[in-house]
Amino acid sequence: MSNFVWCHGPSCHKSHTQDRIRGVKGSKVLRTKKVPVTEYHRNTMYSYFCSQGCYNDFANKHVREVIAIAPRTEALETPINVTKEQDIDWGGNSYISTKIIAVDNNGG
Ligand SMILES: [Zn+2]
Repeated sequence: MSNFVWCHGPSCHKSHTQDRIRGVKGSKVLRTKKVPVTEYHRNTMYSYFCSQGCYNDFANKHVREVIAIAPRTEALETPINVTKEQDIDWGGNSYISTKIIAVDNNGG
């Protein structure tokens, strides 16, 4: 079992960085980067992409397919209570702050 995957960024192999250069003089290439498989990155986008840029390139290229997995056809809502509370700032001045508290409608 290998301990890496190839970055899924569609243009990873086109970035001009020294750590992508492979091959011998006269036949050098820019190669897709390896992404180490670690417990720290498990189940995150960093399990498949070497950078935020490569992730963005992939997401922008495949956005329609990704959205088709779980399309949103209506807005979601979270029930809340809004209250105003008097508070004291770091300088000892009082001010009114707005508190938003999610309401648990499931018997909570
Ligand atoms: Zn990459």
